[in-house]
Amino acid sequence: MVTNGMSETSLPLSTLLSADDIPPVHESNAAGRSPFLFTCDHYGRRLPKALGDLGLPEEELTRHIAWDIGIAGVVERLSRELDVHLIAQRYSRLVIDCNRPPSAVSSIPRLSEATTIPGNEAISREEADTRRRDIFDPYHRRIGEVIGARLAEARPTILVSLHSFTPVYAGVARPWHIGTLYHHDRTLPPLLLGSLRKEGDLVVGDNEPYAVSDVTDYTIPVHGEARGLINSGIEIRQDLIADESGQQQWAGRLARILGEMETVLRAQRVI
Ligand SMILES: [Zn+2]
Repeated sequence: MVTNGMSETSLPLSTLLSADDIPPVHESNAAGRSPFLFTCDHYGRRLPKALGDLGLPEEELTRHIAWDIGIAGVVERLSRELDVHLIAQRYSRLVIDCNRPPSAVSSIPRLSEATTIPGNEAISREEADTRRRDIFDPYHRRIGEVIGARLAEARPTILVSLHSFTPVYAGVARPWHIGTLYHHDRTLPPLLLGSLRKEGDLVVGDNEPYAVSDVTDYTIPVHGEARGLINSGIEIRQDLIADESGQQQWAGRLARILGEMETVLRAQRVI
């Protein structure tokens, strides 16, 4: 923990990120004209300097518990190809999970899969608040602002939250190549499921490997559903997008599918 260096008579304000740390919010193609808006909660695996390595060896900090392997390479290409504004978060989900309500136990996990996170074990309320204020809040504030500005201009906005999932979790292999994740939206998920199934070579998860809920998720309930946007999450299995050729292939496939979806939604005058 570092302080802002104010004298003792000033209001003490602890900070997590220092001048040596990069900002949590990453954006690409902010002037993109597409009706889609992409978010990527688990885009990066950076750690603030003040947290060291959270007490974990490098092999834990590079595996799926720390971030969504491969998704950054997919979402950047997809954003370029479809001219979509992307808002992503660069710090590891082990620092604070940007797709969990801050009140959830898994927001700052003490245990992830079978790995204990020593740097999160004895965390104080103040330290937890600081992680939220420096990483979680700016990311979600920015998404909220961008959606607000688009709604004010009456720009059609379809929120797609992109993730990737580990092929094996707690010893159990997952058969799906890709899954759609949703809660209340009845517009985008069925279209997306239909298009993915039509591909013919994919095992498609319908709310698999996870379903979205208000308790376990944040981005879709807060930015999609509460603001009345058409929305869906997309989860791609990590072994398919671990290298550049896989990322390129999946970005190309999803660009085609989302492009077709935009045409359908425009024809239906939904957007
Ligand atoms: Zn994720």
